[in-house]
Amino acid sequence: MKGVIEDDGCLWMERGVSGEMVKQLCPYAPTAKYCGYRCPLFGEPGLEGDRGGYLEICNNRVLYFTELTDGVELQNIKKY
Ligand code: SF4
Repeated sequence: MKGVIEDDGCLWMERGVSGEMVKQLCPYAPTAKYCGYRCPLFGEPGLEGDRGGYLEICNNRVLYFTELTDGVELQNIKKY
């Protein structure tokens, strides 16, 4: 599964057999809000070899990616 954290901090994940990249919504927000860097429960992405990586998010979930791009890091935007 591929994942991208855009330069604005929003998380995109590859979904379904089509491999479509979908911008992820937060299921806990009262209105439509994107899951991403501005949430305190959104962990620091861990980048591994061959561009894979993982991401800890809320509820002790860890998302594992065969390919993870951290656009926030690539854009060298301060992470606060
Ligand atoms: S980490 Fe969890 S609580 Fe935070 S925005 Fe993403 S889905 Fe919502």
